[in-house]
Amino acid sequence: MPSAPLPVALSGRLAVPIDIERLRASVRFDVASRVADVSARLEFRLDGPSGHPVFDLRQTIGTAVLDGSAVPPDALGYCDMGAGEEARMRVVDVSCSDGPPHLLELGYHLEAPDATGAPGVGWSPGGVSWDLLMSDLEPGRYLEMWFPANLCHDTLSIELDIEVTGTDRPHVLLANGALEEHRDGARWTVRYPSHYTSLSPLLVLVPADEVEVRRTEAVAGGEHLGLTVAALAGPGTDLDAAVADTAAWLAYFSARYGRFPADDYLAVLWGEPRGMEYDAATTTSAPALEHEVFHTWFGRGVKPACASDGWIDEAMASWATASRRAPAGRFQAEPLGLDEEPSVLCPAHPWSRRTPREAYTAGSRLLSGVAHMAGGAAQLRSSLAAWYGAHGGGAGSTEDLARHLGEWCGQDLGPWWDRYVYGRDGAAP
Ligand SMILES: [Zn+2]
Repeated sequence: MPSAPLPVALSGRLAVPIDIERLRASVRFDVASRVADVSARLEFRLDGPSGHPVFDLRQTIGTAVLDGSAVPPDALGYCDMGAGEEARMRVVDVSCSDGPPHLLELGYHLEAPDATGAPGVGWSPGGVSWDLLMSDLEPGRYLEMWFPANLCHDTLSIELDIEVTGTDRPHVLLANGALEEHRDGARWTVRYPSHYTSLSPLLVLVPADEVEVRRTEAVAGGEHLGLTVAALAGPGTDLDAAVADTAAWLAYFSARYGRFPADDYLAVLWGEPRGMEYDAATTTSAPALEHEVFHTWFGRGVKPACASDGWIDEAMASWATASRRAPAGRFQAEPLGLDEEPSVLCPAHPWSRRTPREAYTAGSRLLSGVAHMAGGAAQLRSSLAAWYGAHGGGAGSTEDLARHLGEWCGQDLGPWWDRYVYGRDGAAP
């Protein structure tokens, strides 16, 4: 079960995780002045005893009001929770009681988020381009880049009002939520499903003349679903081929691993060699489509129970799809003893929030060994389908996976997990 990390005592204050119920935010992009203003309302309860609420937002806070009383932005400062400066969180310098819900209202300008590799808002003559552009690889790269948010274990309902002013140039908004367009090409509301977490929502805003959008249908597992494929990649992108490839991967993964978990799929194609998965959606380059569509089942269908479980879906995706990070190819099944180099795939600290890059390499090597123990690649694929059947729509943890795969292998995978997941060297003789 996904759960919050335990409260932390920080120089006399008890920093307590929160349970966010709802985020409502409006963002107004004024293209003429190149300023984006945000007003955000966060409704939360304390996930534990009374104390100082913990959340994250990688923007410079302008104004803050907690339960109707103004608080200085300094009272929402960053604290190292013990997992390192990069994984810092904001701890509210006001003690709150558990029980009734609290309301935090924040005002700020949207700038480049204060997190490694985070891009800013792109302004052009008469236009604005904005992509939530999340990443598993660095802390602070989920929803908290742009809006007040929790760590990725917490489900919440998210409603965003987006407005573009100061230009006549129409814009397009793409999102994996219910979209209402109030003014053509200029103002929208997006309501995301309430089972989403901070790593779920996709949102891309671009000038309409910079994107080509194809809306069609696909059939996956005998069911019809809406398919939207958009290309921002420029004249080199073959949109028809991308639609065909996306539909084919949706059909294949449905047949092999289980029912597609939504009513629609959204793929936004870029020219750059990068990809990111969201719930039933991706922003990706064409060569990474297979990997990113796979994540609809593993990563965003079964979500990581906490950030340190993020290695699981990258290991699975590298093992089961063509991936530039795993050049050995799909479906390897090679013997794995307890004498190869140890690796840390699941960082130990409860407030850690990054997926180690070894998830792709050492992670897929581990699954190759597990496939061999299970009797071959077909057995491991069936065990992935059973994992999705057991945890789809919810979350899976590193310990759950050791138990699950151990049953398919008929042996205790504890020594392999110790060495290749937790990085403990002592398992070798
Ligand atoms: Zn991936």
